[in-house]
Amino acid sequence: MSVRWQSAGMLVGLVPTMGALHDGHRSLVRRAREECDRVVVSVFVNPAQFGPGEDLERYPRTLDEDLALLAAEGADAAFVPGVEDMYPAGAATSVHVAGPLSESLEGAVRPGHFDGVALIVSKLLVSARPNRAYFGHKDAQQCAVVRRLAADLDTGVEVVLCPTVRDGDGLALSSRNRYLSAEDRAEAVAIPAALAAAARAFAAGERRSSALISAAAGVLAGASRMCVDYVATVDPETFATVDTAAVGTKILVAARIGGTRLIDNLSFGIDSMPGARRATPQV
Ligand code: AMP
Repeated sequence: MSVRWQSAGMLVGLVPTMGALHDGHRSLVRRAREECDRVVVSVFVNPAQFGPGEDLERYPRTLDEDLALLAAEGADAAFVPGVEDMYPAGAATSVHVAGPLSESLEGAVRPGHFDGVALIVSKLLVSARPNRAYFGHKDAQQCAVVRRLAADLDTGVEVVLCPTVRDGDGLALSSRNRYLSAEDRAEAVAIPAALAAAARAFAAGERRSSALISAAAGVLAGASRMCVDYVATVDPETFATVDTAAVGTKILVAARIGGTRLIDNLSFGIDSMPGARRATPQV
């Protein structure tokens, strides 16, 4: 389909998703609609990027609502493959982006996760053949992995990164937010509040990563139900950790609340502070 559109001179945009679509996904589809002549959205819960004991089985699957949302947003095609379509018997190829990009942080907590991401994104780029592919900054390390592989594999696809869409209190929208109990949801706000605390420290002139991380960790420490996997400051392209932050350095948080794992991040000096209204810890 893409080839036919492209031979008619059209630009094709691809938005890869795992479904359970929300306003974050919607923003990617809208951006693709603005910038491309045709928009394809894939909906596929990719088993290869889930580790043992993760939430593959209970991951929300809401295909009817997803297709209605995509129709309302004017997507031109939904690609909804089955697991056997993407991983037929005998498939033996893997895609590994080496180094801290896929082996640190999310890659360390979720071994093999980015191999699963790299494989499915490579397959989607080959099968959908878009001119552009749209991803959300919320999954910052995924963005960096995808940019690397799209360049390294000479795909010619332009990877477009889109801002994180948040609830009014700052919590980044995520398909996994629907797992949160009311108590968990209330505590989850500590994540954007922690990022905002670090951003305030950066804006006040602090550049030591240790101090920026402490500012964030101090807010997370007030959330008693939360178990923090990491708070880190990294170079946005290589994901190597940095000791001294600069404009564009990312601060990343990953934490679990009541069995739900949430991630979020912010680029110092670039992103606006999430949930500024709730940025001060309640005492
Ligand atoms: P997922 O369905 O969670 O795999 O996400 C599909 C795409 O939507 C990925 O590129 C995500 O980074 C992006 N995405 C997820 N949540 C948000 C959000 N709150 N704002 C913007 N993009 C998002």
